[in-house]
Amino acid sequence: MSKQQPYLLTPGPITTTMSVKQAMLWDWGSWDGDFRAMTKALCEQLVSYVDDQGEFVCVPVQGSGTFAVEATLATLVPEEGKALVLMNGAYGQRMTKILDYMGRDYVALDKGDYEPPRGEEVAAILEADEKITHVLVVHCETSSGILNPIAEIADVVERFDRRLIIDSMSAFGAIDIRSTDFRFDAIVSSANKCFEGVPGFGFSLLRKSELEKAQGNAHSLSMDLYDQWTYMEKTGQWRFTPPTHIVAAFMQALKEHAEEGGIEGRFARYSRNQQRMVEGMRKLGFKTLLADEWLSPIIVTFFSPTHENFSFERFYELLKARNYIIYPGKLTEAESFRLGCIGQLYDAEIDGLLDAMAAVLDEMQIPNGNSAQ
Ligand SMILES: *Cc1c(COP(=O)(O)O)cnc(C)c1O
Repeated sequence: MSKQQPYLLTPGPITTTMSVKQAMLWDWGSWDGDFRAMTKALCEQLVSYVDDQGEFVCVPVQGSGTFAVEATLATLVPEEGKALVLMNGAYGQRMTKILDYMGRDYVALDKGDYEPPRGEEVAAILEADEKITHVLVVHCETSSGILNPIAEIADVVERFDRRLIIDSMSAFGAIDIRSTDFRFDAIVSSANKCFEGVPGFGFSLLRKSELEKAQGNAHSLSMDLYDQWTYMEKTGQWRFTPPTHIVAAFMQALKEHAEEGGIEGRFARYSRNQQRMVEGMRKLGFKTLLADEWLSPIIVTFFSPTHENFSFERFYELLKARNYIIYPGKLTEAESFRLGCIGQLYDAEIDGLLDAMAAVLDEMQIPNGNSAQ
């Protein structure tokens, strides 16, 4: 390829390897035994990352990550159930929107743009409301980059004997989460974040005993993971046209994930990316939204410079001209932007990004990245 591909400093889709892209250069029949074997291996490998007790099953579903979140909520939260949504950003908010569409009862603990929901707060709500059956939490809230205190919340949910559903879309594959560490009932993620596959399907890792009770819960055929699961168990096939090329790319991505040392290896590289990036950005005068304690190795929010020459659109275009694609911020109060640490990024790419940042500030005649925040 003559043109240099861009580096995606975004939380997915992310920069993938050439070998992952090349794995898509083959046509698979959906009914064919080879493809069914791939689906089986895919599910077994994903389950093995959370559970070796035989308590979880993997149900993949076509579409982006949100489809998998919606399908999980539709399947697990029954009509007579009630959810507590822990909200501190766009993805928690999206779960309430999904529940609105489905007409499921819920309450939300809204912590604003970036404050973490804490165990005691969850305990107080669960104590006061016995109708709550399910607690919904986002692992890494990608809108600010905060890593929510998932273990602390899981302990409380277990103490009150409610079910826990974790949107670990942007964390699973890089942040270890095992059924033996604390109790949860479902983890949702997708192909194109920390596993470094291409976008096109999501998956839910579900506690089998909960899924078995979920027949008839879903309001929608396409979103019914119980139906997808029982059909897959029976036939080895996806119910409807599977994203064959994307599954093939994902199998290659899983292989490369294992070669890098699995979850631990990926966590190490992403953490290194994050530290190198934050350190370099701070040297340029930029400030992070979050204190170090809450920073994730997935994505980091920086305040935009308050200098009058700053415009996000120009900043973005000038970085793009240097092959770095950044991500706009999502804060309601202050202007910000985000830099992802995930995907095929190593020291050289982080250093290249920092050099590009310095050059762009210079070109915009902004003396440093300082913000008044
Ligand atoms: C990316 C992401 C999603 C899903 O987003 P899609 O655009 O539907 O793939 C859901 N939750 C979190 C926390 C995410 O980072």
